[in-house]
Amino acid sequence: TDANGSGPVTPEVNIIRRKLNGYVGFANLPKQWHRKSIRRGFNFNFFIVGESGLGKSTLVNTLFNRELYPQKEVRDPSAEKQTNVKIETVSADIEENGVKLHLTVIDAPGFGDAINNSDSWEPIIEEINSRFDQYLEAETKINRTTIIDNRVHSLVYFIEPTGHSLKPLDITFMKKVHTKVNLIPVIAKSDTLTEEEIADFKQRILDDINTQGINIFRPPTYEKDDEETILSCQELMSRIPFAVVGSTDEVSGKDGNNVRGRAYPWGIIEVDNEDHCDFVRLRQLLIRDYLEELRETTAKKLYENYRTEKLRNMGIEQDHSVFKEFDPLVKQQEEKTLHEAKLAKMEAEMKSVFDQKVTEKEKKLQKSEAELFSRHKEMKEKLLKQVRLLEEKKTALENSSRNMLDNPSQQKSRKRIF
Ligand code: GDP
Repeated sequence: TDANGSGPVTPEVNIIRRKLNGYVGFANLPKQWHRKSIRRGFNFNFFIVGESGLGKSTLVNTLFNRELYPQKEVRDPSAEKQTNVKIETVSADIEENGVKLHLTVIDAPGFGDAINNSDSWEPIIEEINSRFDQYLEAETKINRTTIIDNRVHSLVYFIEPTGHSLKPLDITFMKKVHTKVNLIPVIAKSDTLTEEEIADFKQRILDDINTQGINIFRPPTYEKDDEETILSCQELMSRIPFAVVGSTDEVSGKDGNNVRGRAYPWGIIEVDNEDHCDFVRLRQLLIRDYLEELRETTAKKLYENYRTEKLRNMGIEQDHSVFKEFDPLVKQQEEKTLHEAKLAKMEAEMKSVFDQKVTEKEKKLQKSEAELFSRHKEMKEKLLKQVRLLEEKKTALENSSRNMLDNPSQQKSRKRIF
């Protein structure tokens, strides 16, 4: 501050601008980054959701070119249908040219298979949230240097190839998850539709997505991207929603080579041929060109939104000033509030369990009281009946003895009777 205390004084600095002579070395930074990444390896978690029999496991096997899911013996989809939605995960460590990838595929068998599918998305939402919560918890721990990122980086949603438009369940599901995950809708088993049908179906799906305000993942372009990257990105976008075909079986292709595909009496569909289906595009988006983008969007946007919302609901206001962001006191307060909220939740849960137990006990007592009362009533009635009978007998006996006294001739016959 200057003598009057009116503001900071900028010290005079002589900046000498020189051309760099020779190589300093920071151009090597990407290489350093590359080495570090190779050493650490990568991880990628994605959800596959869709009704059973839409080719989800086949597509995952096709994407990673290995049997992550064993070939199912049951081939009748209706036989596989189950009413409850379960969450299952398959993990694998795979390596390609020295680059390691820890892959986790999350599946929700049973989704959309019940007659009434309302709420069938609940377990899926719970899984996404619990993975975010796990991360949030790990972040608030004292040692947070090695957090394992189990968050869902992408969700591939399989649309049944009806050729009409999206079903109500498709729309409801996508609306439930689109703010939580990078949503990638695909048309399953697209070899069951003709080229024109696919084009029309795609258009109707996009119309529905737009009118319903559903946010799907679109690859971004950046200012510094070269023309080739921008063109490739635009081409990719124009194919959304990808019409995919999956198969790990080899068939004899057009030029006689063995290719992955599906053989039909009318011809062959090659999985890896861009003219035959959009499988290659999906792989490009999900793995080859945008895997890191999907991870980053999850961390920087989707998770941040979730975190802000969660902390806000717990009563913590998000503060955007840089100072407070790094203020240990604020951090401590956040952790304290988080801890307190957790304790309050536990207490509320315990109270509700206690209340429930008390109500159950009360009900039991009331029931046994009622039983006792009815048994008492029953016994009382029985006894009264016996008393009444005895009294009747008594009166009868009294009458008969009186008769005998009054009429002794009957006494003989009476004796005979006894
Ligand atoms: P999931 O229940 O969604 O995992 O479905 P599966 O991957 O087990 O596939 C169910 C059936 O559909 C199997 O008989 C597959 O061979 C077949 N299938 C898988 N992908 C395709 C595809 O792209 N096109 C066609 N026509 N059939 C497929």
